[in-house]
Parts: sequence; structure tokens; C-alpha cells
Amino acid sequence: MGGALVDVALRGGRIIAIASRLPPTSRDIDSAGCHLLPGLADHHIHLLATAARMTSASLDGLADERAVKLRLRAHAHALPPGAWLRATGYDERAAGLPNRAMLDAWMPDRPLRLQDRTGALWVLNSAGLAELGNEPWPDCVEREGGLPTGRIWRGDAWLRERIQALPPSLAQLSAKLATHGITCITDATAHNGPAEAALLTDAVASGALRQRLTLMGREELPAGTSYVLGPVKLLLDERDLPDVETISERIRAARALGRSVAAHAVTVSELLLFLAALDGAGGACPGDRIEHGSLIPASLIPDLAAAGLTVVANPGFIATRGDRYMAQVPPHEQADLHRLASLAKAGVLLAAGSDAPYGPPDPWIAIRAAVDRRTASGAHLNPAEALPHSAALSLWLGDPATPAGLPRTAVVGAPADLCIIDPRAMAEGENPVRMTIIAGDIVFASSGR
Ligand SMILES: [Zn+2]
Repeated sequence: MGGALVDVALRGGRIIAIASRLPPTSRDIDSAGCHLLPGLADHHIHLLATAARMTSASLDGLADERAVKLRLRAHAHALPPGAWLRATGYDERAAGLPNRAMLDAWMPDRPLRLQDRTGALWVLNSAGLAELGNEPWPDCVEREGGLPTGRIWRGDAWLRERIQALPPSLAQLSAKLATHGITCITDATAHNGPAEAALLTDAVASGALRQRLTLMGREELPAGTSYVLGPVKLLLDERDLPDVETISERIRAARALGRSVAAHAVTVSELLLFLAALDGAGGACPGDRIEHGSLIPASLIPDLAAAGLTVVANPGFIATRGDRYMAQVPPHEQADLHRLASLAKAGVLLAAGSDAPYGPPDPWIAIRAAVDRRTASGAHLNPAEALPHSAALSLWLGDPATPAGLPRTAVVGAPADLCIIDPRAMAEGENPVRMTIIAGDIVFASSGR
């Protein structure tokens, strides 16, 4: 990986000195043969959806009681003690219409609320009912002999207000991302507007969300002091593509706001539509992005390079969805799937994001996949598109404002956003992150060395 053996001093959230030997202090950290890197940036994630996913167990398609219990327990395992477990998609074929006693047997030790497949019914266990606070309760709370059965029919609004279930806590997600060395995130949610901005601003202010934040979203997304205002996100959906002029108009509106644009482009038609709309709006500007770029025909690569567009790729999908792609994408298009090396070689600007909750939030899974191109079954998806390790890692080291621009580096004066990684663990396919530092604060330190 290169680099040098140095001491690095941090103060006031910044790197204040780098030298071969600095005077010792009472708070020295010995990196013990590990590498010091700038913290990683996830250039494309959906925070609220990922946080909600982390705290919900999906029971979709589980038709027997044992499978339901196993899914609930597996999910509870990852939650802090006493935290609510939320489960959705319960199918009555598993164990009939549940009540509090049945849920107590499944999960006695934390509040559980389980929604049935139709969405009409929530069932709570006794610990969950105890969290609802004092009676009186409305009629949607079913009773037998005066006692609640645990079933709440069409009582979503009341239940949500009582347990203040929304929005999902971002603290757990932020902590998890810190374990992966992530210090910067770009939320790429297309519908981000004032409400989401307020929510995420609160999460930053309360300390729940520790990473530096860039927000994409609608034209209405306001500037804020807790985040950097990112591109206008254009969600072009293959199933219902808008016409070119509508997209050109939005690009012009973004320009008038001084913002770049980022287009969701998974299919070739989505990509072609974006390129045509850019042309109609006077061409690409620095910072304009193609999100995913899952299928890029070779004939378009020179155009992307000439336009200075950044492709924000999701190599994690090679690991998690690669087998499905290999089975479903026509053979003549497979060479266009999740390109990396051919884009880099042609001079296309590249960065990467997880697309969590749809892709794996762990960047090290994605870095490995960018290098070895292996699917879950061990097949190789487009091995010619493999990147060398350092090039793969650099996809996570760009500045969110210009994700494929100059990589953030650990230099004097730079923010003290750093991670310490163990190259031996990386070689063994384990989480290599030993410590993560954001603005000089240690936000994650691994116990096992
Ligand atoms: Zn996305």
C-alpha cells in the first residue's frame, strides 16, 4: 500500500503535525503495525431506509413458526438490550393469528411489535404493551375480559405516536458505519427535502449521526449548517421514464440553484436518457454524477470521459447480486455489467457507494469485490473489470464534494477524519478497521487486537 512510518498529531479536530518523531503525550495511540488512512466516504447511501431496515425484521414469505422465531431472534441479537424489535410481513400460515401470549413465548425479554402481511394488524408482546404508557387506550386496542390481547387493529397512527417509533434511530447505523471506517456519507435519496433535512440535522445535532454528511435530494432541499448540499437527484425509472425535455428542465433548474445533478442510471435506457437530457440542458458540469452505472455499453465510455461525468459505482452488488446478474442479463450485455477497469482506463472519473440498504453497507466487502469480482457462489463476474487494490480503495477516499477528484489525504491542516486498518486482517478477509476517528474524536475502537 506504500506510505511511511510517521507520528501524527491531532488537535481541535485537525491534523496539526506529521513527522518521523513527535514528542510523546498522555494520549498516544500506537498503531502497532497498522496503516493510517483518511476515513472512508460512502458516496451513495440511504440513511433513513438503512436505519429502518436495521431495526426491522422482515418475515416475508416465512410460513412456519420455527422460521419466524429464528428470524426474530437473529434480528434481536443485533439490537441493544431493551430496544424495540419491529417485525413486518407476518404471514398467518406460520402460526395463525398471534396474541401477546404467543409473542411472549417467542420473545419475552424485549418489546416486540409485529405487523401482519396486510398491514392492518400490529401485535405486541407484554413488554411492548408495557411501553404504551397509561390507559385509557382507544378502541383499536383489542380486549378480552378487559385485558389487552396484544392486537391493535388499524392503529398505526396512534401506535407510532405512543411509542415515537419514527424516525428510526440513526445512532446504531452511524456506529455500525464507524466500525467499517466510514467518516463521510452522502445520502442519495431522491425525495430528500425540508423534512428529511430537519430530521438529519437533528440527528447530527444530537450526536446520533457522527459522520460528515452530504445530502442529495430534490430542488426544494434547503442548504443547512449540519450538512453539505449535494447534487439534485434525478430518479429515472426504466418502467416510467420521463421525457427528455422534463429532465433537461430539471437540470436547468439545478444549474440556476448552483447545484450539480446526479442521475440514477441502472439500465442503458436510463443512461441514454440522462445523456440526452444533459445535452439539452447545455452539457455536463463538474460534479455531475451517474449513480450505479450498472450497465454501460463500451460505445458510451468515451462520451462519459469527455463529459467529465463521475460514475458512482456499487461494487458490493457484484458480491451480493452477481449470481443473479449472471443468470438474468443477456450474454451480449454481461461485459457491460458493473464496469470499473475499462472506465478507469478511459479516464472516466470513478467513486463508489454502498447503496445501502439495497447493497451491503460494509465497504470492505465492496472493495474486495472490486478487486476479485467474485459473486456469492464464487463465480467471477467480468474479471477483466477488476481493479488493483489501491485503485479500489481510492474509490472510497474522494471528497464527497468532488467524489472522484483528488483523494482526501492525511496532511497537516486536514480534518482529523482517519481510520487505522490492519493489513493482515484485510488479507484474511476480516474487517480490517481497528479505529475510526472523526474530527479528532475516537468513534470506534476495536477491542480485539
Ligand atoms: Zn440508491
